[in-house]
Amino acid sequence: MPKPGLRVVLAQPRGFCAGVERAIEIVERALERYGAPVYVRHEIVHNRHVVAALKRKGACFVDEVDEIPEGAVTVFSAHGVAARVERAGQRRKLQIIDAACPLVSKVHKEGQRYAAKGYEVILIGHAGHPEVEGTMGRIDGRVHLISEPGDVAGLAPADPEKLAFVTQTTLSVDDTRDVIGALRARFPAIVGPDTRDICYATQNRQTAVRALAREVDVILVVGAPNSSNSNRLREIGAATGRPSYLLDSADGLEARWLEGARAVGITAGASAPEALVQNLIDRLGLDYDVRVETLAGIAENVHFRLPPELEEHASQAGAA
Ligand code: SF4
Repeated sequence: MPKPGLRVVLAQPRGFCAGVERAIEIVERALERYGAPVYVRHEIVHNRHVVAALKRKGACFVDEVDEIPEGAVTVFSAHGVAARVERAGQRRKLQIIDAACPLVSKVHKEGQRYAAKGYEVILIGHAGHPEVEGTMGRIDGRVHLISEPGDVAGLAPADPEKLAFVTQTTLSVDDTRDVIGALRARFPAIVGPDTRDICYATQNRQTAVRALAREVDVILVVGAPNSSNSNRLREIGAATGRPSYLLDSADGLEARWLEGARAVGITAGASAPEALVQNLIDRLGLDYDVRVETLAGIAENVHFRLPPELEEHASQAGAA
């Protein structure tokens, strides 16, 4: 019996962002330059396939710096770390290479600047996410964490005239606008970057999933369950009325999701490798006669420099 037809539409852009590419390259270059093992605190990016591939090359993942032998080469993840973690690493005389995304570091600096000017800082973000822990731990003084408009009523700042906010980089643009609206309504003097802390990659992938929703019946988001930006993509897809599912890999696909669908859209979070998208298309091809197309979308041309010690090594390796 012939397989039923299925239109598969790929969002553009999707998958790896410049910060994730840089973080992975940092671990690979560190392994080339210093040899295994290279220690990495936390998942370098939120994707177990990426972590497994780096483990095979000799990276050793740990939860805390006190698990790392004194003096060892150590990479801090793309999410950034609190100042106390950096100090703990210095006390162990670790050779630290910081893979924090430059756009996360920018938020750290912004928060530090507000704190230095005497502002109390509000961080809009999700409790427990490593980026949030890192950002809170980089800003001196009291930092209030809120995640939704309803949290604003519970804030009790020392001086409502001296308040600032910053945000996590991977939030939903629309939800964040609502939180900022609630902040401005209660604290008219508050200052902050509006939604500009939400990084280009997050914004572009959110725009792309909205465009995808106009074309398809069902949306599949390839990404890890603990990946903030991947979860936001699924939520935005669902908010358009299209059933939307987050799956770590093709193995997570459930046949019932596609019942009655003629067109399925696929996107991927910023830490999901393109190979996982291709595997998913292959998996769909087992049951359907798939016709794949890619939406026109925003072209990204962002590249972040490596830390100087690895940039030098990269150019030498390239010249060899
Ligand atoms: S999602 Fe944005 S902030 Fe996070 S690593 Fe990628 S570019 Fe940087």
